[in-house]
Amino acid sequence: MRAVKEVANAKINLFLDVISRREDGFHDIKTVMHSISLSDTVTVFYTPSSEPAVRMAVKGNRFLPTDDKNLAARAAMLYMQSAGVSATVEIKLEKRIPVAAGLAGGSSDAAATLRAMNRLFGRLFTDRALSAIAARLGSDVPYCLYGKTALCEGRGEIMTKLPDSLKLNVVVATAHEHVATPQAYSALDAMYSSFDGSIPTGADSRYGALISALNGSSQIQNGLFNVFESAVLPTCPGASALKVRMLELGASASMMSGSGPSVFGIFDSEEAARSAADKLCGEGFFASFAKSV
Ligand code: ATP
Repeated sequence: MRAVKEVANAKINLFLDVISRREDGFHDIKTVMHSISLSDTVTVFYTPSSEPAVRMAVKGNRFLPTDDKNLAARAAMLYMQSAGVSATVEIKLEKRIPVAAGLAGGSSDAAATLRAMNRLFGRLFTDRALSAIAARLGSDVPYCLYGKTALCEGRGEIMTKLPDSLKLNVVVATAHEHVATPQAYSALDAMYSSFDGSIPTGADSRYGALISALNGSSQIQNGLFNVFESAVLPTCPGASALKVRMLELGASASMMSGSGPSVFGIFDSEEAARSAADKLCGEGFFASFAKSV
């Protein structure tokens, strides 16, 4: 039996705007994602067999599915179907990224599984071909294959790499609240006239500031933007409180990630971030120190 291990990093959104509502009901977005060291670990064990089979065990979260509802299991099966190969594949997932929190944990597990499968099977797919398989699993999965800092457009699957210059010390935290992403989109549609262009979200100047920060010519704080805050924070008192607490604990900026409810804070030093994370844990939040990766 052979085995391959991959790290599945969480992401935070440094910038997230909705551009338009499409005819199919989905939305085109413009987001800058950034990988952080908070991570799951995916180990894939391979045994030759004549029929493709996937088994899975999860450590660290007893509520996650272990059948084909788990994105990692689905990724392994889709890889074998796409390549026309067979094996019995066992996935061991060590889960540390909070689930359904706007940190792309499931997408990152799927991407890590695809990377592991491609290593186990002798790189049957090029990077581009693997991205196409990833896009069939979810719009964040192509980004999660390569991580770092990237602009993601369309539904999130059209990726352009950005300068990889940031060395952030962050605290990622959640207040154990739940956000229903479809409802968050509906609330945004109501606020911004279904993104017909009549009501600007105010994101444009922020994007310019972010790109200039990524090029090293200004501070990141002025470039942060997340349109979902306006729809989600009023319904999530815990996330709103976390934003305030991050600043009180010394963060130079604090913002929600994805459609929430997790919130990240940016700190000047690792020491300050670790101390803030400890305090937030003591106050009953999930909180973790993480660095850019
Ligand atoms: P995104 O930031 O991409 O919107 P998220 O962080 O909000 O993602 P996930 O943690 O990926 O959300 O989980 C979303 C849903 O996917 C959950 O309801 C969960 O049951 C399901 N899921 C399937 N596989 C996984 C996995 N390996 N890890 C986490 N969630 C998974």
